[in-house]
Amino acid sequence: MTELPGEFELIARLAALFGPPPNGLGIGDDAATWPATGDTVQVATTDMLIEGIHFRLDWTSPEDLGWKALAVNLSDLAAMGATPGRALISIAVDAARRGLVLQVARGLQSLAERTGTRVVGGDTVRSPGPLVINVALVGEADPARLLRRDAARPGDLVGVTGCLGASSAALTLLSERPGPLDPAAAPLLAAHHRPLPRLVAGQLLASRGVRCAIDISDGLASEALHLARASGVGIEIDVGRLPLSPAAVRLLGERRSRELALTGGEDYELLFTFDPQLVDELASALAIDGGLTVLGEVTDQVPTGTAQFVEAGQPIELAERGYVAF
Ligand code: ADP
Ligand code: MG
Repeated sequence: MTELPGEFELIARLAALFGPPPNGLGIGDDAATWPATGDTVQVATTDMLIEGIHFRLDWTSPEDLGWKALAVNLSDLAAMGATPGRALISIAVDAARRGLVLQVARGLQSLAERTGTRVVGGDTVRSPGPLVINVALVGEADPARLLRRDAARPGDLVGVTGCLGASSAALTLLSERPGPLDPAAAPLLAAHHRPLPRLVAGQLLASRGVRCAIDISDGLASEALHLARASGVGIEIDVGRLPLSPAAVRLLGERRSRELALTGGEDYELLFTFDPQLVDELASALAIDGGLTVLGEVTDQVPTGTAQFVEAGQPIELAERGYVAF
């Protein structure tokens, strides 16, 4: 039997089938771009959340689900250095639960208002069971300052905003510890249910000369590999420098928190590379949105198209790479 393609292979085949657009970015980055009027480009992305796969309504309120559905898309715009935008919201739900639509929409609208996003349309349909929500979002950016996955260069440093592993630590606690959670889990639950996309950080990075970024939706290990492959470079990351979530360390221990920071996913922080001369300027600029942790470097010492993780100078093997759909 021939093996079915994995998620990345499927996307590569789709990219070959559809072909590149005549101008702007097509499949392969966090968002697509095309020329707009004036000196800007439109930046577009879409992401879908499925009940039972991406969320459970016994753990997530409908309002939080709406917030998150928009947040994951805004995070892709942040990773391009773009500003939002207008959104289209599509929801599939079974007839008995159609009252949820307005609750989901209210949560989504609270983040839309906070970020200057306008919802201008969508689609509402009946589902045979699971609730599905899809958001399509268009924003705007300066084409000369786009943050792209393919712009890392040897000699760059690798940086990340915020802390890692909080959202997946919440998921771990919800699935492994039924019953009321320790109050110390509050920041983890907030990160899981109401992630704050790094829109300000993305624009600050773009305006200060950074050109390469990706958002961390599927875990640092997987996103570092995407950057290395898209840019045709090798990346080295020191796991001793990972900005672990303090609440995760307290409730799950350092070792587990480190695993979650590497492969847990849903952090919605930005991973980026930059000229080492920018380090002080970026550290002070990012103080207002997540801060900066330098994790490693882009280097010829690591094979092209790979991301190597080291601990105390020694390469380590990761058991897994992060979330993949198939
Ligand atoms: P992200 O995690 O940033 O949302 P994905 O891993 O979902 O990115 O997708 C990677 C790239 O593949 C993106 O450019 C996305 O637009 C594209 N892509 C994913 N699925 C499809 C599809 N079914 N058809 C066309 N392009 C797709
Ligand atoms: Mg992304």
